[in-house]
Amino acid sequence: MGPQVDPVTSAETPPAKADVVIVGGGIIGLSTALFLARRGLFVVVSEKGDFVGEQSSRNWGWVRRMGRDPRELPLIVESMRIWDDMNMLVGADVGFRRTGILYLCDQEDDVAHHVDWLTRAGDFAFDTRLVRGAELADLLPGAARNWHAALYTASDGRAEPQKAASAIARAAAADGAVLMANCAVRDIETTNGRVSAVLTEHGRIDCHTVVVAGGVWSTKLLRRLNVRLPQLGVRASVLRTSPVSGGPDGAAWCKDFAYRKRLDGGYTIADGSQNRHDIGADSFRYFADFVPMMRQEWGSFSLGLPSPLTVDIKGETEFERMRTLDPAPLNHRLTQTFSDLQKAFPIFRGAKVEQSWAGMIDATPDAIPVISKVQSLPGLVIATGFSGHGFGIGPGAGKLAADLVTGDAPLVDPTAFRYERFIDGTRPKPTTGV
Ligand SMILES: Cc1cc2nc3c(=O)[nH]c(=O)nc-3n(C[C@H](O)[C@H](O)[C@H](O)COP(=O)(O)OP(=O)(O)OC[C@H]3O[C@@H](n4cnc5c(N)ncnc54)[C@H](O)[C@@H]3O)c2cc1C
Repeated sequence: MGPQVDPVTSAETPPAKADVVIVGGGIIGLSTALFLARRGLFVVVSEKGDFVGEQSSRNWGWVRRMGRDPRELPLIVESMRIWDDMNMLVGADVGFRRTGILYLCDQEDDVAHHVDWLTRAGDFAFDTRLVRGAELADLLPGAARNWHAALYTASDGRAEPQKAASAIARAAAADGAVLMANCAVRDIETTNGRVSAVLTEHGRIDCHTVVVAGGVWSTKLLRRLNVRLPQLGVRASVLRTSPVSGGPDGAAWCKDFAYRKRLDGGYTIADGSQNRHDIGADSFRYFADFVPMMRQEWGSFSLGLPSPLTVDIKGETEFERMRTLDPAPLNHRLTQTFSDLQKAFPIFRGAKVEQSWAGMIDATPDAIPVISKVQSLPGLVIATGFSGHGFGIGPGAGKLAADLVTGDAPLVDPTAFRYERFIDGTRPKPTTGV
């Protein structure tokens, strides 16, 4: 089971007509809904399960510029501006705090990798810098281990995944968006070569635009429209502790573990180096697209048996059959991770593991999202493939998707996120963050 999420009230029945239907009630779909509703459009968000039940409530809660793929840097800068004002925007505390993030290095080789990122980030490096010695020790209260150095960004932060997207949803509803839970979108209808409606399990909604923000499921829905989007699921496991006093206030990553302090005083902990891909039909379908990424990231991937998601279920109702994708956490790895953390930070020895869960990341071959219209199908906008970084960038991504719908000046240049890069022979590949 996933973590407990702040509740979102669902409407009873979907309207017969809307301006825009958004598929998916995670942080991306809900942020898009909020910005569209504020511009006066009539928006329906159709979610197959509970709102914020998948990745958007299961993530680490890091909101970071440091280490981003340079193509995402303008968008994270804009997103952080929105996070700064988020409590006012949505009328609730979403837990955003600029408490700093550290990438801890064991040796000088790791430092070189970070220096490379600083160079590539250029003007977007802002306050990110290397720290060592006493300054680094001060940033790690409760630590018994000494690290060689760290890349540090004081202005990076954290927010609460179990609160943020729900608060955005409630704000969107207050502005007139209709939020439908347990309402799977089975298909998207076209008339005269453009989007004209979505078919939900509770009936048709006529609309001029649909935004597909379905996370790891987007590929399956788009396939029904013959829109080929290479995306694979990556299972990532997390645990949550009871409150710990005297520990670091921010977040940090090292090759053995990653931690982030929570508003409830506990920590969200993960193994930052290992991700699991569960083999399924899409692994073969998109193998060639992912070869460059696999070459680059091979050390951090392990392969598993098919998860329920990757077993193709025939018929019209695959989205209803799995209301909430709830993959099993890799508890043996989490046990090792927690033990490594306790050795490095003895203050965690008294902490209890309250819960563990996993989430399925929607990874693209170049590890950056698609936030894009689709040239061949007017009325279709895609916002998916956030490749493990979509929580921090979510508010900006939602605003950008809203801009694409309304034709307003885009928040940032959307060229890097265009869908057509996967079908026009570009053969995109990751440029690596850190
Ligand atoms: C363990 C883990 C740690 C992470 N850590 C971080 C982090 O620290 N910082 C960060 O920035 N990012 C992080 N991420 C990534 C981040 O969580 C995601 O990029 C982000 O939440 C994606 O949001 P989303 O709305 O696109 O997808 P989701 O939250 O997955 O939402 C998609 C929704 O669409 C619904 N849906 C799909 N198909 C249909 C359909 N046909 N009809 C109706 N509904 C449908 C699904 O039910 C789901 O609720 C992490 C992810 C995981 C799993």
